[in-house]
Amino acid sequence: MSLKPPKLTNDCFALPRGVTWIPVDEALDRLKKSLHRITEIEKIPTNVAAGRILAISPTATRSSPPKSNSAVDGFGFAHSCIKSGPQILPLTIGIAAAGLPYEGKVKLGSAIKILTGAILPSGVDTVILSEDTNSDDNTVAFNGPIKLGSNTRLKGEDILKGNKLIDLGTPIRSTEIGLLNSVGIFSISVYKKLKVGILSTGNEIIYNSQSKPLPHQIFDANKPMLSTMIKKWGFKVIDLGHADDNEKTLLNKMNSASKKVDVIITSGGASAGQEDYISKILNNYGSISSWRVAIKPGRPIAMGIFKGTPVFGLPGNPVAAFVCSVIFARPALYCLSGAGWVEPHTFWVPANFTKQKKPGRQELLRANLTQDNLVNIFKSEGSGRISGLSWANGLVDLPSGLTKVDHGDLVKFIPYSSLGI
Ligand code: AMP
Ligand code: MG
Repeated sequence: MSLKPPKLTNDCFALPRGVTWIPVDEALDRLKKSLHRITEIEKIPTNVAAGRILAISPTATRSSPPKSNSAVDGFGFAHSCIKSGPQILPLTIGIAAAGLPYEGKVKLGSAIKILTGAILPSGVDTVILSEDTNSDDNTVAFNGPIKLGSNTRLKGEDILKGNKLIDLGTPIRSTEIGLLNSVGIFSISVYKKLKVGILSTGNEIIYNSQSKPLPHQIFDANKPMLSTMIKKWGFKVIDLGHADDNEKTLLNKMNSASKKVDVIITSGGASAGQEDYISKILNNYGSISSWRVAIKPGRPIAMGIFKGTPVFGLPGNPVAAFVCSVIFARPALYCLSGAGWVEPHTFWVPANFTKQKKPGRQELLRANLTQDNLVNIFKSEGSGRISGLSWANGLVDLPSGLTKVDHGDLVKFIPYSSLGI
């Protein structure tokens, strides 16, 4: 049913010759242009599709409502017999209720008791609300005039059979699940979950070990943080473990990873230093574009293709790894998954801080927005200081050209919630 989408080309991350430093917007623009969906399509039950991306736009197999019905509890009649002023109509024996339709015809000039959701019986096109009437067993009295079709819901007024329901590429939420069920669509085609492998690198990195850490050892903060985030974005996370700073170990890891995942995300070893094996491996065995993006914190980020698998080599410092993930990896992963490019909702808030800034690079600061809509920044900009990530509830995004921020200046705030954190 579905063709396999093509793999990314080896040069899809390549920067033009001579380009070394690029602004964040340009880097994002390049990613947006060079990436495309690499996932295949599968059919799954609608009710387990939350968070999945719609691959084929379903059409309504039924109208909603399927029949014209009453929106309230009241009395139904033909509008053509109603004039202005007091109206007294004889009542038809019987009742129209949801699930118990009245099968007879209501005579012109008569009314019938009708409940919410009941199909309008033949001869009824308008309903008056109970509270606006007086009635006994035989008659109902109320004041005219009344608008034609009052308190009714017309067949197909919400959804018409045969119409397209939801756009391709839409992430399925509870609201789409409700909508699909309402017209009887109980299975849908979605893109298979993007499989994202996560690998930590570094001789000093250890994790949750039983033994006491040696002074030179550092607990792995990145993999658990990135895994949690990437799972929350709706992708399938595959733990690729850890690799020492050693070309052979790393090459083995990358080789087996490229066979089982769609994308590899690594942290650490991404710059051009002596122990930076991610860049070396990509250089020697794949293709790499070490993007020196004018961003703080975060540069450089190594992006390349290894045996057909895209690789995002994030910096090791946890804050830089986090920022690069939410700014670059997040939209890239959504593109690869079939959801298309995503951008966070941002808004402008007054700064509750002052800051001097070097021009020439965009800065993303750990920030906390107070209940009063004032934004504070973390006391330190050190990109190893992970406590600031937890203190923050968003990032302040300062543009490249800016040189200072004064109290009360409006700054762009990206809430964690809009980054899926
Ligand atoms: P690197 O990018 O490999 O040069 O690492 C930069 C800094 O980040 C070093 O201080 C590393 O110890 C630290 N680091 C690297 N990977 C991790 C990790 N997974 N968790 C916590 N810190 C890390
Ligand atoms: Mg390292």
